[in-house]
Amino acid sequence: MKKIKRNLNNLSIKWKIFYYLFGFCAILLIILWLFQTTFLESFYKSIKLNQIKSNATTISKNIDNDNLVDLIKDISMSSDSCIVIVDKNSEATYEYSSYRNCMLNDISLIQIEYLISKANDNGGELIGYYDKNELKFGNIIDPNYPFNNDGNYVVSIETPQTLIYVKNILKDNGEQITLFISSFTTPVNATISTLRIQLIYITIIMVVLSALLAFIISKKVSKPIESINSSAKVLSKGNYDVKFDSKGYKEINELSETLSYTATELSKVESLRRELIANISHDLRTPLTLIAGYAEAMRDLPNENNFENAQIILEEANRLSALVSDALDISKLQSGVVELDIEEFNLTKLLDSSIKRISELVKSGGYSILFEYDNEVYVNADESKISQVFYNLLINAINYSHDDKEIIVKQKDLTDEVKIDVIDKGEGIDKEDLSKIWDRYYKVDKNHKRSFSGSGIGLSIVKSIMILHKTKYGVDSEKGQGSDFWFYLKKSK
Ligand code: ADP
Repeated sequence: MKKIKRNLNNLSIKWKIFYYLFGFCAILLIILWLFQTTFLESFYKSIKLNQIKSNATTISKNIDNDNLVDLIKDISMSSDSCIVIVDKNSEATYEYSSYRNCMLNDISLIQIEYLISKANDNGGELIGYYDKNELKFGNIIDPNYPFNNDGNYVVSIETPQTLIYVKNILKDNGEQITLFISSFTTPVNATISTLRIQLIYITIIMVVLSALLAFIISKKVSKPIESINSSAKVLSKGNYDVKFDSKGYKEINELSETLSYTATELSKVESLRRELIANISHDLRTPLTLIAGYAEAMRDLPNENNFENAQIILEEANRLSALVSDALDISKLQSGVVELDIEEFNLTKLLDSSIKRISELVKSGGYSILFEYDNEVYVNADESKISQVFYNLLINAINYSHDDKEIIVKQKDLTDEVKIDVIDKGEGIDKEDLSKIWDRYYKVDKNHKRSFSGSGIGLSIVKSIMILHKTKYGVDSEKGQGSDFWFYLKKSK
């Protein structure tokens, strides 16, 4: 069983669809055969019974009508039945049959009385079947059958199965009469054999058609999947230029689009990875070259063994370490392992002390940092991460401020939030670069010399921290007009 299941799972979609469709047709055919052969008789019987019952109702409704005779004739002809009306003395007052050998004609008086009283006991109606010389009402066999008044057999052996329906009817004048309707319940043999021959033809046509249909559908469905599969195999080998252009139906179109999108995204990641390696190695190489150069000079030339050179080595080593810790930070932030340590703190104080510390460092370069605020503001956030954000923005403002070395930090106290702006009057950013500067290792000008250390991932760290805080952040900038980097935080009171 397991083996069959495994084999089924390993089948190609083409064959699977083919088998399913074929199975579906086989089931349809089996149902058709069952209905046309095994169940045909019972169907025919129940249809016939319903027809007779509805005819009996029509007759009983028109029992006092003048045209009753014509009506009975019509009904008898159209429904292939034999109709007899018997008066209260059990004498037939009217009889009509659309066929010869109506068995009601041969019925004995005792029997008529027996049937009328049975119908009375049964709420006014009685349904019986004649088959193999027995007349049955449910499970009860009529004891008066099959002999007639003369003691002879009533119906010949050849008479097919017959249904007898008895209904007592009350006329307007209070007289009770009884309606007998009988009709054959076995379909005509010729019809059955015609149906069987037809069924054989239908089966052959269905098998051929379904095989053809299954073949066409399975081909149509499987072709685009096969083509996507082969393109995906190319993609898995690292060829990101592969095209997914299979079309045919909605799901395949969507899959094609998703895979095309994946391929472009993968190619972006790939080029980002290359860029990243190039950037990191470039950024690492510069301080390393300096460190090696100065150390060598200090070792070989006694004059160079001085404080300034040692200081340069120290600064470059610090730069390297900052670079490495930034790179670690961003990978941690972007891998989602970092959790925020949210607590209430004085944001204004934090900004102020950061500004003072950095001002001290860049004072010699002629930079001035202005802090504008109205009142002290408390926020609920991760203090060290917000400090990192602010530090990165401030360092960038210094790095890109060019000749106008004035930097303004604004704290705007809004109703529920506080907005921080870090504004420089430097080179600004081109419109097309605005959305890209938040990407890891993206630099507008690859050769820009920073006055301060810069790892190339400062803004990417800012972005990740802001996303973790679920807060708004952004930049307003124009080329040559300076930049305004801003972010919001929710106030705690
Ligand atoms: P970097 O170490 O290169 O400054 P960042 O991620 O901090 O890395 O910044 C990414 C890029 O955004 C920078 O290379 C620069 O082109 C641009 N940028 C950032 N801040 C400013 C600013 N204040 N003015 C102009 N350009 C900026």
